[in-house]
Amino acid sequence: MAIKENLEEIKREIPSHVKLVAVSKTKPVETIREAYEAGQRLFGENKAQEMIAKQPELPSDIKWHFIGHLQRNKVRYLAPFVDIIESVDSLRLLREINKEAIKNERTIPVLLQFHIASEETKFGLDLDEARQLLQSKDFQEMQNIRVCGVMGMATFTEDEKVLRKEFSLLKSIFDTLKNEYFNSTDHFREISMGMSGDFKIAIEEGSTIVRIGTSIFGERNYH
Ligand SMILES: *Cc1c(COP(=O)(O)O)cnc(C)c1O
Repeated sequence: MAIKENLEEIKREIPSHVKLVAVSKTKPVETIREAYEAGQRLFGENKAQEMIAKQPELPSDIKWHFIGHLQRNKVRYLAPFVDIIESVDSLRLLREINKEAIKNERTIPVLLQFHIASEETKFGLDLDEARQLLQSKDFQEMQNIRVCGVMGMATFTEDEKVLRKEFSLLKSIFDTLKNEYFNSTDHFREISMGMSGDFKIAIEEGSTIVRIGTSIFGERNYH
């Protein structure tokens, strides 16, 4: 596998202000190490068990992005080391993350995940739900959470018009929330959107974080 070459090729296509998360779900630690040795430091996993199993096997300067649906009872295992939880879609989950962050005497950065695709199966908030969350007394009292931006997954399609529409929706949600709630902070600045098939369009529409698996590591095997 030409992981190093794949990484180099992708980096050539990404402007320097956009972060590249290598999505290593289903891939063994040896494969991740190969990417690490090619200089990659941000990795993304979508299953808590998998991230927890891999993390101790790999260098400690890796930054782990959690990008999948997270059950509250798994938060405590990620809280000691996770770099950012990109997939927060409820106040209840946020409450749990805050609680575990306190136990670990740290602040945990998070992104709010939005439902931008036409597919029903994908998780995420809509704008009104996010406003309710951000306005709640509960949220405002959380001391150990830092909301750093938004995340979303577009519809699985090659239709560029559909992709642009969904990415620009996420960008406009970001702008709205920034205006309404985060104008005086500079940490609310990330828009995580774009995967192997659509990251160039996502970047044109304002992405600051792309999450790429297949184009780096090849197809995944699900058994
Ligand atoms: C798997 C996954 C990706 C990467 O998808 P590829 O098409 O393999 O690049 C990105 N984001 C999330 C949330 C994922 O689950």
